[in-house]
Amino acid sequence: MKLFSYLKVSGNPEVAVLEAAGKNGAHYIAGGTNLIDLMKDDVMSPAHLIDVNDISCGDIEKLPGGGVKIGALVRNSDLANDPYIRQNYPVLSRALLSAASAQLRNMATVGGNLMQRTRCSYFYDVAGACNKRQPGSGCPAIEGYNRMHSILGASNKCIAAHPSDMCVALAALDAVIHTKGPSGERKIKMADFHKLPGSTPEIETMLAPAELITAVELPAVGFNKNWCYLKVRDRASYAFALVSAATCLEISGGKIKSARIALGGIAPKPWRSVEAEKLLIGKTPDEATFRAAAEAALKSAKGYEHNKFKIEMSKRTIVRALKVAAGGVA
Ligand code: SF4
Repeated sequence: MKLFSYLKVSGNPEVAVLEAAGKNGAHYIAGGTNLIDLMKDDVMSPAHLIDVNDISCGDIEKLPGGGVKIGALVRNSDLANDPYIRQNYPVLSRALLSAASAQLRNMATVGGNLMQRTRCSYFYDVAGACNKRQPGSGCPAIEGYNRMHSILGASNKCIAAHPSDMCVALAALDAVIHTKGPSGERKIKMADFHKLPGSTPEIETMLAPAELITAVELPAVGFNKNWCYLKVRDRASYAFALVSAATCLEISGGKIKSARIALGGIAPKPWRSVEAEKLLIGKTPDEATFRAAAEAALKSAKGYEHNKFKIEMSKRTIVRALKVAAGGVA
């Protein structure tokens, strides 16, 4: 049995609490839908847990200049079903509803979703090596069974894929993450929040020790007319993505004025493809244009023994998601 201390905080967490959390290496816990599993399997063994379920981060607040601020403790199901989010940011609502199960969505929080860890099976097997769990021990997935792993952004230290659906939509929507830590408050662009593995796969985000996610801000542009979240997976529900794509378009006069493409299930972080987006601007929204964008998005892809199929699957997913977005979804 592994012992750990437990502290529940409420209101606006004081800097002193955050400082103490930083010093003793505490982990924050809210919905617990990932951390508890990791603790049960001995993948993570925090000596101190700080329960943040009662802090003041549970609201969805419309911002005066447009946009919305979503508290880190808003449950995934509440966010997905919020009328304002459904109306103005439908790609986010759809991504959330395609994830996990209804029960898990009722517990999981926005902040926790941003912090969820890979589902690489070697990461969960504490009897074996894994650079992410035990730096320097090796990556058995590279030569092992790697069907669910990355084809973009991986390194020779780790090829794990990021599992979130919500984060793919947040990447497409240019979300900004609000945090509070011992050094104060700051905002981090979604594109910068998650890190690629490089030589340090154990470092997954930009967060400093004890830095707490307090909210996610979405800009006013929500692409509520031409959008799609397409998730390709082994089962119709309760399965992680083999490939997913969030696509958002602004079409005027028969030409694409702006575009967003973000991909999930194929990279160590939610993968925004700016190259592919640029290719779409000013073009007619047709199959040839979409295929060219898909080729650009996967240009640097590298497949491994069991996941090479994901390269072509990703291209087809992008094309299909762009077609649906261009068609306009009610
Ligand atoms: Fe560990 Fe990453 Fe390799 Fe999986 S892919 S075994 S998480 S180092």
